[in-house]
Amino acid sequence: MLYIVLGIITTLFAVVGVAMFAFGVRRMVQTVRLGRPVEDGRTGPFGRRLTTTLIEVLGHTRMLKRPWVGIAHWFVMVSFPLLVFTVAEAHGEVWDPHFHLPVIHDWTVYGLAIEVIAGLGLAAIAGLAVYRQIKGPRRLGRGSRFANSVHWTAYYVEAYIIALLAAIFVIRGFKVAMDEFPFPVWATPISHALGAVLPASEPGLALVAAFKLIISWLFFMVLAAVVTMGIGWHRFTAPFNIYFKRDPEGSPALGAAKPMMDKTGKKPLDFEEADPDEDPFGVGRVEDFTWKGLLDFSTCTECGRCQSQCPAWNTGKPLSPKKLVMDLRDHAYAKAPYLMQGVTAETLEEKAAEDAAHADTDVLALLQRPLVGTEEEGGVIHPDVLWSCTNCGACVEQCPVDIEHIDHIMDMRRYQVMIESSFPSEANTLLKNLENKGNPWGMAEDRRMDWIAELDFEVPVVEDKLPDGTEYLFWVGCAGALEDRAKKTTKAIAELLHTAGVKFAVLGGMEACTGDPARRLGMEYVFQMLAQQNVETLNEAGVTKIVASCPHCFNTLGNEYPQLGGEYDVVHHSQLLARLVEEGRLTPVQPIEENITYHDPCFLGRHNKVYTPPREIMAQVPGITTKEMHRHKERGFCCGAGGARMWMEERIGKRINTERVDEALTTDPDTVSTACPFCQVMLGDAINEKKSQGQAKETLEVVDVSQLLLRSVKGGSAPAEEGEKEKA
Ligand code: SF4
Ligand code: SF4
Repeated sequence: MLYIVLGIITTLFAVVGVAMFAFGVRRMVQTVRLGRPVEDGRTGPFGRRLTTTLIEVLGHTRMLKRPWVGIAHWFVMVSFPLLVFTVAEAHGEVWDPHFHLPVIHDWTVYGLAIEVIAGLGLAAIAGLAVYRQIKGPRRLGRGSRFANSVHWTAYYVEAYIIALLAAIFVIRGFKVAMDEFPFPVWATPISHALGAVLPASEPGLALVAAFKLIISWLFFMVLAAVVTMGIGWHRFTAPFNIYFKRDPEGSPALGAAKPMMDKTGKKPLDFEEADPDEDPFGVGRVEDFTWKGLLDFSTCTECGRCQSQCPAWNTGKPLSPKKLVMDLRDHAYAKAPYLMQGVTAETLEEKAAEDAAHADTDVLALLQRPLVGTEEEGGVIHPDVLWSCTNCGACVEQCPVDIEHIDHIMDMRRYQVMIESSFPSEANTLLKNLENKGNPWGMAEDRRMDWIAELDFEVPVVEDKLPDGTEYLFWVGCAGALEDRAKKTTKAIAELLHTAGVKFAVLGGMEACTGDPARRLGMEYVFQMLAQQNVETLNEAGVTKIVASCPHCFNTLGNEYPQLGGEYDVVHHSQLLARLVEEGRLTPVQPIEENITYHDPCFLGRHNKVYTPPREIMAQVPGITTKEMHRHKERGFCCGAGGARMWMEERIGKRINTERVDEALTTDPDTVSTACPFCQVMLGDAINEKKSQGQAKETLEVVDVSQLLLRSVKGGSAPAEEGEKEKA
């Protein structure tokens, strides 16, 4: 009788569990399909995308960035499909405790595989549960990567997996005690150890099998009921999210910004023809995200790796990339049932006008909720969250399931800037200067050539065509041409190229801002205007090879201009200079006896994976001792200038550049080196502040690696650095 009752109950749980889970999958698919179409190239090529997905999922390549957590998670992951066999077996055991799976039930390899996977899976999940407690917000507060996560779901998933795996061993122990266990002790030691203490109880075995089935099917019911439970759903959604990521080669959505597409998702948005009522000018409602965006939100596991690396979150700002994704997810799933039925704010408003007494005010409020707005406005995402992002890419780089945070942040910024005209007022000046003068500072075009007059050799300036024999067009960039500290880097690079005999020319007054700050701010129109102008100039001049000193220009010219018909071979100056040193065309001779720490610019490092050349340059300079900061290379910490933040006030929390300099100071440097004019300015400002507070030595400076190289190549003091640094 007991077995019949258990059999019926567990079968009912299975039937309801499968049905509810199918319902949950349907609801998720329908919600994701509410999104706009994705751009071409997201779904294929099938083979390459599938390979990337298999490598990332089975190889856990992104999880292994934190090796111990990655290994533990791998065992938990593989236990899931493998233990399906034990669930199937349990469905027989509740009816008949002597039941065995056909064919494989006495294969030693099967017994061993289950023992190993369940055993290591159990140890792994227990370890992860302890890790969550040690690193949890109760101990670390805001500093915990689990801060902002929904905790009950995590505890529930951990408890379920522990109970499931433990039940497997208990069932096996009963079988050992009943002398019905066909596997040798060496292959199944845990089961045999339990068998030594458990009674030979058939009802006991059936009850534990029933318990195992009930918690398993209950898990599927809970998943269906809580579709926003990313920590449970990601095992199903993550492979799809990885498959459909922006780059089929497997790298995260860094480098180029996602282009704006028209309403079909197939054609780049043409501002001449675009209709703001039809075409998406960014994202103003959650259903304006593409379906990949909605899949991203559904897939977040709430692991907090993004949050733990985010410079905004780490300096006390309200932006947590994890919370942003979770808030968008919760809002999307709250709205979705109404959108699926064709209910919109407009239809509800009409109904309310006709019959105020029966108006559904709660649903109307939900549908009218602004995507970006203050608490008073009921916004899903606070403007301070949106504008805190530096586009540094740490979140995208860290995310184990390839969520594309920056694309979503930029899409929301685009709507705020181009449709709502709502953005930090300081950025107004930036946009005006870019539109009117072609540079962020609003300086006259001819000032772009001031630095050339300070050199004692000729720098060819393009008039219409690149002079014959020119190897590289040196893209100076606005900061490099107009900002005093960055001009020193420009002159150092020019002098090094000249010394090495590299034939180069500059555009001088014909060069305009690449448009990066406008694009990262969300003003795509200004970006396109500047970019088209530059592409025209470069193409007419016959440019094919560019050396750029600014990583933002380097990224835009190399990764974004191809979207507008500008195909160039672009290198960063650190890459070219490292090669010239390697080829013996530049020889560092003068020792620089200094302790130097290098700061990775986000748009050079994380966005473009250029980590080695600047370090190689320093390694070739005699006397330099380098010391890495704790956060470097992939985990480098932003200077605070990216995402157009350079031109916005930083009113909330600690300044990001101060945080970075505090970290640099822990290495006790004589010099901080970098390879980006914006980093140079941001870190320089923070160092000056530290000096004024007596917290940094007076001689401490920020220099570009090219300046260090020039000092060593020339010996003595290089003209580019005159008056800049007088070391004792
Ligand atoms: S891009 Fe950088 S600043 Fe922006 S959310 Fe991601 S980690 Fe934070
Ligand atoms: S790293 Fe990715 S999965 Fe983890 S919390 Fe952030 S967005 Fe979610």
